[in-house]
Amino acid sequence: MSTDIITFYKVKEIQNYVDELHRQGKVVGLVPTMGYLHEGHLSLVDNAVELSDVTIVSIFVNPTQFAPDEDFEDYPRDTERDKALLKERGADVVFAPEADEIYPDNFQTYVDVEEITRKLEGEHRPTHFKGVTTIVSILFNSVKPDLAVFGQKDAQQAVVIKRMVSDLKFDIDIILAPIVREEDGLAMSSRNLYLSEKERKDALVLYKSLKKAEDLIKIGEEKTYNIVEEMRSIINSVNSSKLDYIDIVRADNFERVEELQKDHEYYVLIACKIGKTRLIDNLLIKA
Ligand code: AMP
Repeated sequence: MSTDIITFYKVKEIQNYVDELHRQGKVVGLVPTMGYLHEGHLSLVDNAVELSDVTIVSIFVNPTQFAPDEDFEDYPRDTERDKALLKERGADVVFAPEADEIYPDNFQTYVDVEEITRKLEGEHRPTHFKGVTTIVSILFNSVKPDLAVFGQKDAQQAVVIKRMVSDLKFDIDIILAPIVREEDGLAMSSRNLYLSEKERKDALVLYKSLKKAEDLIKIGEEKTYNIVEEMRSIINSVNSSKLDYIDIVRADNFERVEELQKDHEYYVLIACKIGKTRLIDNLLIKA
């Protein structure tokens, strides 16, 4: 596989490059990633390629979105493989800065979206979204894209970023792409690599519990408590699981609900450890 895709490591260089693209009237699309790419990431690239003249993919394992006890050091990295996959998929440019290019010694400015970041993922990872919104802002200012594509896999992140883009008046269209799953339903994730063979099987309880929720809603269950309890018993059916949360929220504002209303859209969300690996998944459901 050839890996000769244009790659920038410095903010100033990619800014100058994109300025020239804009002078030429080109539409620039950005797909932010932490690398170790799988079909989920590549589906975002497909979206960007379709909507843009030039597709830029950033690869940066962002230290500020990991808590000290999380897997920043162990997070899988293989930029050469990523670049080959991206080239094959039609991306044009990679932006792969080193950590000190993004966070030089005297760095001290962060972006914090307040309310929506405090629940669900934010409750379990209190510093996570501040790291995400900070790096996404830096990437937006570095790449200056016309549009950026994010995955529904991180549904709360997408809503947080849309809030930030609206509040801070970034002139960037945010596109959301659906979750890509393995054949048996497990949502693709770079972290699936950590799962043992047994844990990989156990991890299917996430998707099974989400499908159970979908089935219950289809047959008219309206009480979210009942749905969550059914899901919880599926998750607890494997010893390796340790639940962080199951929640059902309105898709537009992430407000938790007790009763579903007809014709509204909801996210059913789950975060769960399988062994030591923390996985998240969700389904967007219309009641
Ligand atoms: P990450 O590299 O995990 O930070 O993810 C980069 C982007 O890819 C985010 O917008 C994720 O939501 C998205 N993504 C990750 N996994 C999937 C998946 N299975 N399907 C669709 N998008 C995904």
